Order: sequence, then structure tokens, then C-alpha cells
Amino acid sequence: MSRILIIEDEESIADLEKDYLELSGFQVEIEGEGPTGLARALEEDFQLVILDLMLPGVDGFEICRRLREAKNTPIIMVSAKKDDIDKIRGLGLGADDYMTKPFSPSELVARVKAHLTRYERLVSSNVSANQVIEIRGIKIDKTARRVWVNGEEKNFTSREFDLLTFLAENPNHVFTKEELFRKIWDMDSVGDIATVTVHIKKIREKIEFNSTKPQYIETIWGVGYRFKV
Ligand code: CA
Repeated sequence: MSRILIIEDEESIADLEKDYLELSGFQVEIEGEGPTGLARALEEDFQLVILDLMLPGVDGFEICRRLREAKNTPIIMVSAKKDDIDKIRGLGLGADDYMTKPFSPSELVARVKAHLTRYERLVSSNVSANQVIEIRGIKIDKTARRVWVNGEEKNFTSREFDLLTFLAENPNHVFTKEELFRKIWDMDSVGDIATVTVHIKKIREKIEFNSTKPQYIETIWGVGYRFKV
């Protein structure tokens, strides 16, 4: 369940917002003062903050700026004055949305839902983007454990996949066969470093255009291998 923090000093407004958001299934907390609101927004895990502009202690401008420096939590700023909203926009403090009081609670709920959906999509796309490695025609999806070479999917055994991914994640770094064996195979697994040579050969057959003249995994004679970028 998404947790929302309302930083608002007018109790009746805060309570109204809270009621509507709770009816929509959100968990809602209220802080009536700037300093405590800022502290909680920074320290606790909220998925969205509804931030009033005029607050005792620290105002909404400052809270927005400080919170944005530390986190990407969506912020909806509210103010009684249209002029203030224009000013906030102009300052580029990083708020995600602005509403002028009085607004209808259902309008607030609709905007909260829209921002949460957008934010969750953004977060999940970042996560999946981090799991894909792309180097000169080779695409490795670490999450799905799939590999494409120039758009064509190739099948790899589990060790081959781990070895290729490890080398691709550390481009231009030369690893000895011993290092690769220790890294990819369990310490107590039966085998020797010749296993590494065999696996490199199999990987090359799948990713290289000409495996006798490798463009990706280079042999550094007397040392080991590296993934060339
Ligand atoms: Ca206020």
C-alpha cells in the first residue's frame, strides 16, 4: 500500500485530503509544521508528498528543494495563491505537480494516482534497464538470462552465460583463467582451469563472426582473457 505524507498546517484541509485518500486505499500521515514534515519526508519511506507552501518553521519552497536534493519522491505542491504557483514553477524546484486551493478532493486523488503510476513505471523501467548490457551488437538480459547477437538469440549454458556476463560487465579488464574459474565456478567444484578454456571456446562460437579472430573476447597470451570494448 502506498504511503502518502501531507505537510499542511490547516487542519481542516489536511483532514479532508486524508479522508479522500484513505477512501482510495492509501495510507496517509499528516504533519502540520515545516521542520517535522521535512524530517519525516527525508527519513521515512513515503511514495508521494503533498506539500503546502505556507507553513510554520520551514516553508514549502525550502522543503521541496531539500527533499528533491535527497530523493525522487513525487511532490504535489499546493497553495492558496495562484501567483505562488507561478512562482514555484518559475523556480524549478522539482515539484511534480501544482494545485491551487480550493481544489476538489477527487481532483487531488486523481492526480495522486497518476503520479504514483508514472513514478512506479519510471522506477521499474530503471531497474530493468540496469539489467541489460549492450556492447557492439551483443545484448545480454541479465534478468531473463537471454543473449542476442546482432538481433539473433543464442542459447548459452548457465556457466557460459555467467562467464560471458562477468567479462562483459568488466570490459577491457584482463582476467587470468584462475581468476575466472574462481569467480564463475564454486570453490569446491570439481574441475580445473582447462574448463575455462573450453567455455571460452564455446562462447566464441556463439558470439564471434570468426572465432579464430575474436572481436569480443580476446586472448591475452600468457595472461588470460578480456572482453574488448
Ligand atoms: Ca498553509
